[in-house]
Amino acid sequence: MVRKKLVVGNWKMNGSRAQNDVLLSALKEEGRDVAVEVVVCPPYPYLGQVGQALEGAWIALGAQNISSFNAGAYTGEVSASMLVDLGCAWVIVGHSERRSLFGEANEVVAVKVRAALEAGLNPIVCVGETLGQREDGKAEAVVGEQIDSVVSALGQDGAAKLTVAYEPVWAIGTGRVALPEQAQAMHRFIRARLDLAGVAAEGVRILYGGSVTAENAPLLFVQPDIDGALVGGASLVAPGFLGICRAASSMAA
Ligand code: PEP
Repeated sequence: MVRKKLVVGNWKMNGSRAQNDVLLSALKEEGRDVAVEVVVCPPYPYLGQVGQALEGAWIALGAQNISSFNAGAYTGEVSASMLVDLGCAWVIVGHSERRSLFGEANEVVAVKVRAALEAGLNPIVCVGETLGQREDGKAEAVVGEQIDSVVSALGQDGAAKLTVAYEPVWAIGTGRVALPEQAQAMHRFIRARLDLAGVAAEGVRILYGGSVTAENAPLLFVQPDIDGALVGGASLVAPGFLGICRAASSMAA
């Protein structure tokens, strides 16, 4: 099956109104030739600004996190329906920084993914092992468990609507990108694991994340089970992000 490539920019907790304007203008002006699906995920306070700037543009809007709850007395939380209201089509769930710094366990991630799907958002569920887990030979066990937990919460049909991002924790923000063969092996494992659970895995896009740049993207994108990228640092600089988008476009079916 041919899967359309997808490139997602995770701005993390970066940006300001002025910086966002500069970045978005450059992306819109200089990226007219990009022929691939692209999403940017700014911090919550800038969703309105970025959504407005992207109206009619080729870039879609996403958020970096959502609440497990729908509405009510949950101070500081942002619900899936609020994200839809602000024009988001996508949401990142279970990023390793959410898991390690904010204590999001597999069960919480699964509930959030379900909330996203119920609201009509496209969830990008992040999975990945730490360096210690890889060195101990536990990478597949850890990632397999992360995948199973989401599949059991969503069921086979729900899980078929997922986008998965494989982000080895040791590669995020470190400049140490996984070898293309290493990433491909884990992507194949994830697809096989989904398949084993009865999910229509051939249609599920699996993105790679972890120190992706315009330079290393082509070798990653050529791998048969790598369907795009979740990009952190490089998504904050227009030429770098556009370089990654162009690498994906040039391989788009
Ligand atoms: C990320 O935050 O999801 C990420 C992959 O970051 P970076 O590209 O900076 O490694």
